[in-house]
Amino acid sequence: MDKRRVAVVGAGAVGTTAAHDLAARGCGVTLFEAETVAAGASGRAAGICYDAFAEDVDAAVADRALSRFRALDADPSFDWSFTPRPYVWLAREGDTRRADAIREQVPRMQAHGRRVELLDGADLETEFPALRADIEVAAVARDAGSADPGAYTRGMAERAVSAGVTLRERAPVELRAGDGHPRVVTADGSATYDTVVVAAGAHTARLLGDAGLPVPSKPYRVQAAVTESTPLSGRVPQLYDATGGFYCRPRGAGLLVGDGTEPVERDPDDWNRDADDWFVADCTDHLRRAFGEEPPGETPAVDRAWAGLCTATPDGNPLLGERAPGVVVAAGWQGHGFMRAPALGERIARGVCDGEWLDPFDPARFDGDESFDIVEGMVVEGS
Ligand SMILES: Cc1cc2nc3c(=O)[nH]c(=O)nc-3n(C[C@H](O)[C@H](O)[C@H](O)COP(=O)(O)OP(=O)(O)OC[C@H]3O[C@@H](n4cnc5c(N)ncnc54)[C@H](O)[C@@H]3O)c2cc1C
Repeated sequence: MDKRRVAVVGAGAVGTTAAHDLAARGCGVTLFEAETVAAGASGRAAGICYDAFAEDVDAAVADRALSRFRALDADPSFDWSFTPRPYVWLAREGDTRRADAIREQVPRMQAHGRRVELLDGADLETEFPALRADIEVAAVARDAGSADPGAYTRGMAERAVSAGVTLRERAPVELRAGDGHPRVVTADGSATYDTVVVAAGAHTARLLGDAGLPVPSKPYRVQAAVTESTPLSGRVPQLYDATGGFYCRPRGAGLLVGDGTEPVERDPDDWNRDADDWFVADCTDHLRRAFGEEPPGETPAVDRAWAGLCTATPDGNPLLGERAPGVVVAAGWQGHGFMRAPALGERIARGVCDGEWLDPFDPARFDGDESFDIVEGMVVEGS
C-alpha cells in the first residue's frame, strides 16, 4: 500500500506533535515552517496547563494532553519537564457575576470526572496562604501543571525528525486547493500531498483564505512578563484572577504574569512583539493586589515582557478537521493551544488516518466569512 503523503504547515506545539504522530502512524510527512521551530505562539506561551473544562469534549482532550505531558516528563529521552502544580481561579469580593459563573462551572467539570473543587475562605487560607483575603469564591483544579512550551515544541520537532519527518525550516508555504490533491508551494517549487494540515497559528486564516477556503479565525494580541526573583515563587499556585483579568504562575525563581489581552483583530504580519508600558505597570498592580507586598514594602519588578498572538473563533471552540477534501485546519485555540497540543496532535493523526474527527470542533459548522467579536479564552463571564 502507498504511504499517505502529508504536509503539515507550521512547526508550533500542535504542528510538531501532529507531524510526529502522523509519522508514527506510517505517513510520509513533511513539516514546513516559515521561520524556525517554535517561532510562533508556542515560543511565547506561558505554559499553564490544566483540565478544568466544563464541556465533555474539552475535558477529554485536556485529560489526554495531561497524560501525555506526564508520560513525556517521565521519558528520559525527552529533554523537557512538566511540573505538577494546582491551578486556582477566583473572583474577588463584590464580583458576584464571575463568582456565580465559577460556582456554576465546578459541578459541570466534576461531572466530567475532573478533580476540581470549590474552596471556601478557610480552605484557601490554609492551602494557599500567600493569596490575599478579599476573595468571594475560588476553585482549584488538582490535575494541572506548567512547562516550557518552546522546549516542548523543539523536543517534539526532534522526535518527529527521528520518526522520519522531513523538517523544512525557513520555508513559508502557500496552498493551492482546487480539484484533485492539495498543492503546497514554496520558493523552490511545489508538490501535491494526499493531505495538508494547516497548523499555522495566527497565519492560518490568511493561508487558507488565499487558497479560497475561508475560516473564521482571528489573531489577537496577548502579553506576558516574568518578574525578578521573589520568595513568592515558592508559595503561590498557578492562578487566574478572573476579576483582575490576569494569570500568574511560578517560573524559576520569579513569577510569570499574563494579561494584556486586546480583543482586536491583528495583522499576523504586522504587530508589536514587545509588551506595552501599561501592561508592565499593570503586572505590578496585579501582583500587589493578589499577594500583598512580599517582603513588606516590595513587589517583584518585571524583568522582561513580551507579546504574542492567539487565535479566536466565533464560538470559542477550535477549528479542527477537514475544511475541504485533503485540507485540514488546526487553529483557533483561544489561548489554550499549548495545554492541549499533545492531544490535538494525536487527534489530527486519527482524523487524517482514520477519518475520525471531533464533531464540536468541525470547521464545517461555519461558512468561513462570519463576522464576530473576539472574546479571549480565559474569561469567566457568566450570564
Ligand atoms: C503570551 C502568551 C501566553 C500563552 N499562554 C498559554 C498557556 O499558558 N497555556 C496554553 O495552553 N496556551 C497558551 N498560549 C496559547 C498558545 O501559545 C497557543 O495556543 C499555541 O502555542 C498554538 O500552537 P500552534 O502550534 O497552533 O501555533 P504556533 O505556535 O503559532 O505555530 C504556528 C507556526 O506556523 C508557522 N507559519 C505561519 N505561516 C506559515 C506558512 N505560510 N508556512 C509555513 N509556516 C507558517 C509560524 O511561523 C509558526 O511557527 C499563550 C500564547 C501567548 C502568546
